[in-house]
Amino acid sequence: MQLARIPRRRYTSAPTPLEFLPRLSEHLGGPRVYVKRDDLLGLASGGNKTRKLEFLMADALAQGADTIITTGAVQSNHARLTLAAAVKEGLKCRLLLEERVPGSYKPEASGNNLLFRLLGAEQIRVVPGGTDLMQAMQEMADQAGSEGRVPYIIPGGGSNALGALGYISCAEEVLEQSFEKSLPIDHVICASGSGGTHAGLVAGFYGSHSGVPVTGISVRAEKVDQEEKLHVLANATSKLAGAEHEVPRGMITVRDDFVGPGYSLPTAEMTAAIQTFARLEGILLDPVYTGKAAAGLIGLIQEGVFEPQDNVLFVHTGGSPALYAYPDEVLAGDHA
Ligand SMILES: *Cc1c(COP(=O)(O)O)cnc(C)c1O
Repeated sequence: MQLARIPRRRYTSAPTPLEFLPRLSEHLGGPRVYVKRDDLLGLASGGNKTRKLEFLMADALAQGADTIITTGAVQSNHARLTLAAAVKEGLKCRLLLEERVPGSYKPEASGNNLLFRLLGAEQIRVVPGGTDLMQAMQEMADQAGSEGRVPYIIPGGGSNALGALGYISCAEEVLEQSFEKSLPIDHVICASGSGGTHAGLVAGFYGSHSGVPVTGISVRAEKVDQEEKLHVLANATSKLAGAEHEVPRGMITVRDDFVGPGYSLPTAEMTAAIQTFARLEGILLDPVYTGKAAAGLIGLIQEGVFEPQDNVLFVHTGGSPALYAYPDEVLAGDHA
């Protein structure tokens, strides 16, 4: 695999930190927990979509696009970061928001919704959960075309093979840092949503023969469905990166028992994880993705999945702007 062959924009100036979390590790009494600070990636408030957008925006520019169209949930970090990348490149951006939880779209809401408006989304169209989003984005693209624009559609989460290359690059960056620090990584944990992050990491760690296993904590889909989707995406991503071998199905591992009642709906474990990271390490997670992924990390440690001497890496994929849209859920109870 040689990512340097693929056109890429640059939105982050240096590798993101790989940090040890001593107080959290001690508190959990299990393995040594490290964090990959992809919450500190570039563009407005960072997060995992920035790595994907480096490749996606390069492709949009190569195609002469002037209007980016993408989709996400009503508090989508992906929509915020795609909009920020479009602004930076001097392009317009139109958003299709899917109201996955009925009644959850509030035009005046804080969090990412506030940032959609601040960053100057050219259009925000809200549709009910279950809408055919690709078709709805195609309609928006046709509309933009009829206005004389050159539209470019980025799928939800930026999770096609091109976007997921960003997480091959993350796996390569982690391996380089692990070598620099003489720190072997025994296991990687990440949130698994639209899947580009998890699939890219698997493609990257497998493609570099590192043997590092990745467990994705689903924030929405059921285990088998998510694993099937990830397997297809991991292979498409590997192929695009020039890998010679397929990723075996057995490399894809999803846990779906931390989703709770559904996407973006709070769980006590999510709230506890957010409070624990904030109060022991000063790290802000988010209620929709990293809070549930960290609940998964804590759950796996409590199940005894890891040895005490293991080094477990939690990939922090960002999302803290969504905290401001869920103040009651985030502060509920007192967990740490
Ligand atoms: C989108 C997102 C994820 C999930 O990443 P996918 O590549 O969509 O699976 C995780 N964390 C945050 C904060 C996100 O915004």
